[in-house]
Amino acid sequence: MNLVLLGPPGAGKGTQAARLSEAFDLCHLSSGDLLRAERQRGSALGGKVAGTMDTGGLVPDEIIVEVILNRLKEGRDSAGFLLDGFPRTRAQAESLDKAAEAIGRRMDLVVSLEVPDQPIVDRITGRRSCPSCGRIYHVRSLPPVKPGICDDDGSALAHRSDDTEEVVQQRLSAYHEQTEPLKAFYRKQGLLF
Ligand SMILES: [Zn+2]
Repeated sequence: MNLVLLGPPGAGKGTQAARLSEAFDLCHLSSGDLLRAERQRGSALGGKVAGTMDTGGLVPDEIIVEVILNRLKEGRDSAGFLLDGFPRTRAQAESLDKAAEAIGRRMDLVVSLEVPDQPIVDRITGRRSCPSCGRIYHVRSLPPVKPGICDDDGSALAHRSDDTEEVVQQRLSAYHEQTEPLKAFYRKQGLLF
């Protein structure tokens, strides 16, 4: 089974993706995680990605397509794929179809997570994460016992540099303009839920 999760930033794609990939033994490909990993490695590709992510823009098609499609090939023997944060544009969706076909796969299901803009802005701007264990907190809805400190290991919690209101609003606009039209694209193929 090959799945795509669509949804605005902060809709909970990562959380649902982790549950689904475990339940169905899928190879989980998160474009955000893959790009952040590239950035941390400090590669030339990572440098280009960093500038775009910090200003809330979309990483150029050719970069993200290259990163994702390489991983798709590496995981070709898995039970299926779960793509989270990709495709984001019609061009990416078409690249994905071709790449999947090249390894004898097709997309079976596209799930769109529907969340209005305002709760997303609240969620993202209040989000904090532990750099040591990865646990996620929220300053209002899920605060740690001691402000700014991880309950599990005492690490100082981090606020991601792309989690500001301005950046979130830009990512939401980009989502509405470029990604949301994919719902019609997949609906026509009978894949959208
Ligand atoms: Zn922690």
